[in-house]
Amino acid sequence: MKSSPEKFFQNVDLNLWNDWKWQLKNAVRTVEKLTGFLNLQSDEINQIRKVEKKYPFVISPYFLSLINPENINDPIRKQVVPNIEELELMSKLSYDDPLMEKKKMPVRGLIHRYPDRVVILVTNNCAANCRHCNRKRNWQKKDTELNIKNCATYLKNNPKIREVILSGGDPLLLPTEKLKSILDEIFFVSNIKVVRIGSRVPVTLPMRITDKLCKMLGSFSSIWLNTQFNHPNEITEESESACLKIQHAGIPINNQAVLLKGINDKPEIIKHLCQRLQEIKVRPYYLFQCDRVSGTEHFWTPVKTGINILEKMIGHTGGLCIPKFVIDLPSGEGKIPLLPENIIEHKNSTYKFKTYRGKIVSYVDVGVQQ
Ligand code: SF4
Repeated sequence: MKSSPEKFFQNVDLNLWNDWKWQLKNAVRTVEKLTGFLNLQSDEINQIRKVEKKYPFVISPYFLSLINPENINDPIRKQVVPNIEELELMSKLSYDDPLMEKKKMPVRGLIHRYPDRVVILVTNNCAANCRHCNRKRNWQKKDTELNIKNCATYLKNNPKIREVILSGGDPLLLPTEKLKSILDEIFFVSNIKVVRIGSRVPVTLPMRITDKLCKMLGSFSSIWLNTQFNHPNEITEESESACLKIQHAGIPINNQAVLLKGINDKPEIIKHLCQRLQEIKVRPYYLFQCDRVSGTEHFWTPVKTGINILEKMIGHTGGLCIPKFVIDLPSGEGKIPLLPENIIEHKNSTYKFKTYRGKIVSYVDVGVQQ
């Protein structure tokens, strides 16, 4: 599958279409513009107007062109078009900042949750505002300048930190020179060995992956990229070629999908997604339980849904296609990987395991006193 500029942007020159700056300049940010592309009923238009006051929307022309305008349940449409449930479903279980990131910021823009790694938020901007985003609380904030020197000083003063995760917003929306200057400051700190960049650009704006960007990223010693493909429809010729360019620059790519009700909460969808990711050499790393973020409740699934998806995949497809199913616990307590229950019984040195075919098999352990 390839994007279809002609679907919505008949007269656009292909050189412009493939220019990421043109894409950002022409991103759809108003209901008036959106109605020109999707069939919106008048009540839906009013609802979007209400929602965008609290949670604005942005959709790059490229990502918009992947939507089937006839399908109200299109998996990409549901991820980026505002839904009134963002305002109406707000239970006691949802929080603006469930991971308590604001409380774990010793320096503005730097989150320190785990002993050996930190997150640095470098921008609030994205090529598409994913309605399930766990930082949607920041969408209305102006993009304030990050003080990277202060962050670098913190990294230097905390030598246990070896890894920095650049996040936001989407770090790859920064100009290449700006991003390079941030990476220069970070890698100048001798205890920092690895930088991970969290970016959805390969999915929502693959034309941002330019030769210039790849050359700059490839010039650093160890950069990894984590992206977020949530549905097989997002794997297009353009996104595949963007991933290939990043890989050619020596940067491994991992995928962190989010489990979303009505979008990808079926074993066959996640299996197809992960197999396609393996084909384009992107490792299916995590399948996240959707965080308890205000304005995302309509996407939440029970824990059992994720476990069931794994049960339907383990043994039925190769291990490299199987992501870890993970909950990022509220209150910032950290990530917990969850597995289907395979241990049926454990007595003395004998375990009884359930295989992926449902057969019960005994296994005698070693080194255990009878
Ligand atoms: S790209 Fe990432 S940071 Fe941006 S809206 Fe989507 S999930 Fe949030």
